[in-house]
Amino acid sequence: MPQMHDALAPAGTAGTQIHRCLKGHPLNPMSLAAWQEGAGIPVSQSYAHVRKCKICKLEIPRNWVRLGCSKGCLESICYHLNCSAKALDAAKKELQRINRCTPATLEAVLLEEESLLLKEAAIDFLRELGNPARACAPALEKILLQEVNHMKDHLYGSPQSRNSIRHTFLANDGTHPLQEYQGMRALRVKAASTLASLGELRVLEDVLFGEDPASGRSEVIEASILGLAELGVQKRGTEAAHLAERLGQALFDECETIRIAAAHTLRALGPAGPMVLEPAMQCLVEALQDQNKVTGPEKFGGMPIRHWRDAEGRRLFELDVVAALGYLGRSAPDAADPRTEPLAARLAGTRTSHTMRWAAADALKQSGALDELRKASDHPQLSGTTDLLANHPKPQPQSAAVVEEIRRAAALTLDSTVVKKKVCRASIWGGPVKEKAVGHVN
Ligand SMILES: [Zn+2]
Ligand SMILES: [Zn+2]
Repeated sequence: MPQMHDALAPAGTAGTQIHRCLKGHPLNPMSLAAWQEGAGIPVSQSYAHVRKCKICKLEIPRNWVRLGCSKGCLESICYHLNCSAKALDAAKKELQRINRCTPATLEAVLLEEESLLLKEAAIDFLRELGNPARACAPALEKILLQEVNHMKDHLYGSPQSRNSIRHTFLANDGTHPLQEYQGMRALRVKAASTLASLGELRVLEDVLFGEDPASGRSEVIEASILGLAELGVQKRGTEAAHLAERLGQALFDECETIRIAAAHTLRALGPAGPMVLEPAMQCLVEALQDQNKVTGPEKFGGMPIRHWRDAEGRRLFELDVVAALGYLGRSAPDAADPRTEPLAARLAGTRTSHTMRWAAADALKQSGALDELRKASDHPQLSGTTDLLANHPKPQPQSAAVVEEIRRAAALTLDSTVVKKKVCRASIWGGPVKEKAVGHVN
């Protein structure tokens, strides 16, 4: 019997060329927020706003970014992971089918192709090529530094600017101020990390140290910083050691995407050894102490800004900083360790999240502050004092559940140091215990 499910598989262009519309136009990231429809506009000249993803068939709200045809064709693909991955896969297959996987042709794709998905696929192939891909470094640099400006193009304010990013919701709830569509951002970050893995760090350095005209743009700096994280993933963190100090300063950037990226990269570089992170140590400790205080730009008076728009990003930022502090390893036995106090405060805080408590306990363990852990493992339940005048406002006592959690986190982390040693000694496999690679999702 023929395969019954083949009847459901899309055939022809719809199946094999998901990254293009039926007429063959490329599907690029866009939003329909400002597209015209309704009163005064004849149907023949307007575009339908109600569109469904051609893969998962779910309706895409018109402000959301989707992969769509800018010529007005109806095919759209939503940005759910499954659907966008299928589209990228189709683009890769197109490149493979016409056998364009040599450095020269891939470079031509990077420079000339109008489909962002094809460019992304080309970067993926370049990254797998390794050393021969060095010839394409200038094209990758061009993509990294590319300026997509929705505000200033010559169509600004006219009906043709209907695809403007100002109206677009990326996070689907409108909380993030957007610089560019996410497909563009993926391209930038992939270009930066391919450059880093090829060892072509010159552009990334220029951007980070402000020697490139593009280094005023936050999206370029963010991508360059995230590109450096690739070195950490490939266990070549020492190559980025000279940039650690700059990354530490970036933890206090006025733009929160840069702060988050810097914390992520410092954490990724951590396994390369304490020597790499050493120059950034002071910044890391400070970032944990007043994670909110960031100095504003000169033109606004250089006042401290205490603002995170992105609450989730802030949580990730703090977790990354705590993990990076742990990677710094044990401090000198005599000197007072500046890390201990903020980490212990995280461990014993009332409002600390579950994940953060365990991360802080782990970092304390790695930094060798076992006394602090022992102290926390019988963390006292503070009762509110009766003396109203002495401490005002009155400190709230921690609930029994919180105290219990603090004790458990500290005690189990202490235990795990002992258990790990036993396992190593009794290892029957003989070889060294391998660390799991820390992957990340963009
Ligand atoms: Zn979909
Ligand atoms: Zn089309």
